Amino acid sequence: MKRFIWLLLAALWSVPASAQGKLNVVTTTEDLASIARDVGGDRITVEAIAKGYQDPHFVEAKPSFILKLQKADVLVVVGRELEIGWLPPLIQQSRNARVQPGGEGYLDASLHASILEIPAGQVTRAMGDVHPQGNPHYWLDPENGKKIARDIADKLSERRPNDRAVFDKNLAAFTAKVDAGVKRWLADLAPYKGTKVVTYHRSFPNFAERFGLNIIGYVEPKPGIPPSPQHTLDLIAEMKRQNVKLVLIEPYFDSKTPNAIGRGTGAEVVVVPPSVGGVKEATDYVALFDYDVRLLVDAIKRTGAK
Ligand SMILES: [Zn+2]
Repeated sequence: MKRFIWLLLAALWSVPASAQGKLNVVTTTEDLASIARDVGGDRITVEAIAKGYQDPHFVEAKPSFILKLQKADVLVVVGRELEIGWLPPLIQQSRNARVQPGGEGYLDASLHASILEIPAGQVTRAMGDVHPQGNPHYWLDPENGKKIARDIADKLSERRPNDRAVFDKNLAAFTAKVDAGVKRWLADLAPYKGTKVVTYHRSFPNFAERFGLNIIGYVEPKPGIPPSPQHTLDLIAEMKRQNVKLVLIEPYFDSKTPNAIGRGTGAEVVVVPPSVGGVKEATDYVALFDYDVRLLVDAIKRTGAK
């Protein structure tokens, strides 16, 4: 017995300081998980709650999510109220103090990101599901992706100070990979600057601003409000007036109204994933932009959209 205890102590002693076990990181979306995976490397395990093909505003709460949160060292959320409809009760029921808002393991990834559509006046129900803290789909600007990565590196370093150099090195590699991507994507879309499009939900303003698309309307009459006949007729008229050839829809929306708009205007309906995992090609954060940019360039060429 003595010998066993001695061996056990020796084994513990020989474990390097960094191997306090891998940090268990949980993120709300696959985009954040992808960025965390790059930054955390082999020092963390990471799992996303929502799948990339799901609407991140509406995620069905499952008991397994509570278990994930119970064991999490770090929780990374998109914030700006994206997850307000489903995440707070899960966090509460996890009874894990680390991942409660304000807890040592809680990270709101939006804190340093550039956020669009922050409402100027008072937000009322009549405005639809408007987010008082601005548009939460900010990860679709790769410059914001770099800021998210920096915040994740800081949070991981806080939890594992001995691994700071590793996280910093991984962050630099991720940033370089995104910078190379941005050059490629800007060059690919440069000839089509100002191309007019309609999107289903307000998922793409950050993407449009970065890459020069002009979103002239939405299939939803107001954010989170399903299409109405009158709004659809108005939108068709406006698209005809402005000669809009593309309707971009997220994979999780019903294509019935977009298809009717397509028939009414001669525009093409293109399913554009806003998240990693939204289609099988979007395997990570950089691959998501590679896929979306290629999809758009092809659609613009095919339709002659301007
Ligand atoms: Zn939204």
